[in-house]
Amino acid sequence: MQNLKIKEIINFSKAELIRGSDDLIIEEIVIDSREVESDYLFVAIIGENQDGHQYLEDAVKNGASALIVDRELESDFIAESNVAVLKVEDTTKALQTLAHNYRMSFKDLKVIAVTGSAGKTTTKDLIYSVLSQKYNCLKTEGNYNNHIGLPLTLLRLTGAVEIAVVELGMSNLGEIDLLSKTAVPDFGVVTNVAAAHLKQLGSLENIAKAKKELIDNLTESDTAVLNYDNFYTKKMGEEITADVFYFGFESGSDLQALSYRYDSSAEMMNFSLSYQNKKFNFKFNKAGKHNIYNAMAAVLIAFRLNLNTSEIQEGLLKAEFSSLRMEFIKLNNGVEIINDSYNANPFAVKAAVDVLIDKKAERKIAVLASMLELGKSSIEKHQEIGKYAAAKGLDVLITIGQEAAEIAVGAEGVMDSNNIFSLDNNNQCINFLKQEMKNGDLILIKGSRANRLEEIVAELQVEN
Ligand code: ATP
Ligand code: MG
Repeated sequence: MQNLKIKEIINFSKAELIRGSDDLIIEEIVIDSREVESDYLFVAIIGENQDGHQYLEDAVKNGASALIVDRELESDFIAESNVAVLKVEDTTKALQTLAHNYRMSFKDLKVIAVTGSAGKTTTKDLIYSVLSQKYNCLKTEGNYNNHIGLPLTLLRLTGAVEIAVVELGMSNLGEIDLLSKTAVPDFGVVTNVAAAHLKQLGSLENIAKAKKELIDNLTESDTAVLNYDNFYTKKMGEEITADVFYFGFESGSDLQALSYRYDSSAEMMNFSLSYQNKKFNFKFNKAGKHNIYNAMAAVLIAFRLNLNTSEIQEGLLKAEFSSLRMEFIKLNNGVEIINDSYNANPFAVKAAVDVLIDKKAERKIAVLASMLELGKSSIEKHQEIGKYAAAKGLDVLITIGQEAAEIAVGAEGVMDSNNIFSLDNNNQCINFLKQEMKNGDLILIKGSRANRLEEIVAELQVEN
């Protein structure tokens, strides 16, 4: 953050100064008392399990110069310190208002917001890396994409930042609207709309409505960047005043993917694109067709922001991805793992299976756990994956848990049933693989977040 006087913070957050001086300078704003250092401001957020007001004294002991709270304080310790106390009605809202006004104070800053059912983090990382070849950029760290993570991200801005790339997450209607109004993006990217958070939102239409809140917050001078191949995101572009640019494989996309090929010996994805009647070839080191979509969003924005092709290529190659997404891990025993355990949906599981099959190996093994939140179509979608993977030529299929057992059902009859194993939990799978895996095996590990399949990967890495 850029240094701010308490006066300015009061102005930005609409807080009331109830004690101390408004002339002090604040260097950073944090919500975790353990992160507080001298000249920091601590915001006491009320979370699901914790009330930050319990940690006010800790914050002051660690050197906090100011606090944002929602109540009168009775602590003698605080009264005797010279900490400034700012009172607001709701500390979370104050954090959002403060972050919003702070963001608005940077007149030349461009904000690029990314939402969608899947691929937000990967797309955000790619956009950041590509645009960093020409501009000074800031991005959401990890998955800081909610009503608290986004404001904290915006508070990391400084006058030197030209472009901020932020991820917007949601689990309910209205949330993306709030995040969009906080960040005020110039570019809105929607990666796709698919069955995630189906439980809370009830229908794909509602999920689409929730994602569209980002696009609805764009004005005429802004740009929407949308997936042309997804029914819902395609429709979003037809109903708005902002400029719209589409990416996709289908013809009609402004940026169209013509072909792609994963070169497994070089561990490089090569793909060719068409934009404004010109053809471009790029490569980057992330496997899976779904990642072509993520890369396309980045390339499209880069073209709009006047990067040249060598800058774009350089940025794609330099991208640093968050972990657990299509990571290749070589064990000492000659087994290779494709760790894609972060999350799963039907489209991405198929893309990951394609990578597994296209790579050279003695035995191709898929460890698949459930894809959650698919609603009524869950059984059918799991069976479809089984059939797909088996038909592609999988050697061994291991499923974990009850829902994923339907993947095994789908594979029955298409591949040798002696090579299909339906296990109950991660531990069984760990024991099974420890016994069975051997030199030359390639093992894909994929399932929804709740399955915590990274436990398996971690165990297999021990002693191997
Ligand atoms: P979260 O909602 O947890 O923040 P996210 O939207 O940020 O997730 P990523 O972390 O980029 O998504 O990717 C998570 C998983 O989603 C990947 O492991 C992959 O299985 C799948 N995925 C990534 N990109 C796409 C895409 N463009 N289309 C479909 N699935 C994708
Ligand atoms: Mg994410």
